[in-house]
Amino acid sequence: MPTQPRTSADGETGSLDRLHADIEARVLAIRDGHPDWLCRRGCDGCCRRLAEIPRLTAAEWDRLREGLAALPPDRLREIRRDVAALAGQRSRPVVCPLLDRSAGACRVYAHRPVACRTYGFYVQRDLGLYCKDIEARVAEGALAEVVWGNQDAVDRRLDALGGIRELTDWFALEGLAEHGKG
Ligand code: SF4
Ligand code: SF4
Repeated sequence: MPTQPRTSADGETGSLDRLHADIEARVLAIRDGHPDWLCRRGCDGCCRRLAEIPRLTAAEWDRLREGLAALPPDRLREIRRDVAALAGQRSRPVVCPLLDRSAGACRVYAHRPVACRTYGFYVQRDLGLYCKDIEARVAEGALAEVVWGNQDAVDRRLDALGGIRELTDWFALEGLAEHGKG
């Protein structure tokens, strides 16, 4: 991976760490009350049906790059290929290029973007950010007492974490985009 100047400031990195910690605390609180929560390793439905290409702030991209840099070269090559395919894809939904499709697991789990951390546990202006399976449980009243996370508050904190770009644009900007070779 080519060496690049930092795209986010140290203060933004600390803010991202605090945001991750706050999200993790909310997620754990929800899970504590519901040991059978549907989101678990191997459940990759949301990663396979993204409404749009993931968008990341500069601080999130910096964190993700660390995860990409730790991958074996062949894994990174596969991701670059899938990102290139995604950049030219017009149809929606899209499959996340960071998903290990055979394992149903995120290849950069520890470094994944904020939206991936809140999905399944947060709501935005009364709109649940979760899949149809969780939606069905909400509809039947099974999750009435859940204190959902507030995505609007998360988004306000993300506003302070550097410019936001689509994942495909970050790859292109940093010279990671596939150009028909690999
Ligand atoms: S939001 Fe739905 S599809 Fe995504 S991990 Fe949770 S249960 Fe699975
Ligand atoms: S980055 Fe990981 S968790 Fe997020 S959508 Fe992609 S595969 Fe899923």
